Amino acid sequence: MAVLPIRISGDPVLHSPALPVETIDDELRTLVDDLFETMDAAPGVGLAAPQVGVGLRVFTYGWVDEEGTKWRGVAINPELWITPPPAGEPDIDEEEGCLSFPGERFGLRRAEHAILRATDLEGKPFEIEAHGWLARIFQHEFDHLDGTLYTDRLGERDQKIVAKISRKLGWGRPGQQWMPGVDDLEG
Ligand code: ZN
Repeated sequence: MAVLPIRISGDPVLHSPALPVETIDDELRTLVDDLFETMDAAPGVGLAAPQVGVGLRVFTYGWVDEEGTKWRGVAINPELWITPPPAGEPDIDEEEGCLSFPGERFGLRRAEHAILRATDLEGKPFEIEAHGWLARIFQHEFDHLDGTLYTDRLGERDQKIVAKISRKLGWGRPGQQWMPGVDDLEG
């Protein structure tokens, strides 16, 4: 197992659709181990394979909800059904962040309910009905597999701030990455 460097916005792998997983083999098991370890080290509540430079439809998630229920797992070749996101401006508690645009948060409206269908590491299909923040995590990670960052979904004003931050930090071009535990950008 290893903590992997996390690609930063601008790297092509983050902006291209990922490919379906064809076989669950040792290589994939190692990738999933590394995704969990990297997600925990960052720390983050979800991590998609493209964020560590692998263009495959896999993400991990790990989150404890308000009732203390632990949600933790891997979704291989996921499908996601969502309700329409509510209209209007996001509330303060709808601020989202991304390990591929580290250290920043922006408000974003997301669907309140989502159904995730995917395969686990044993090749078994599973389904989770998610609400609230877990639904948000699934939507965020699922987006990564289609080459979409949450910053792509922001309004015009926030997009301008995103572009400004990118310019200032030298992001928005290929090959930029950071190392959890070393660069400490999400601390
Ligand atoms: Zn993200």
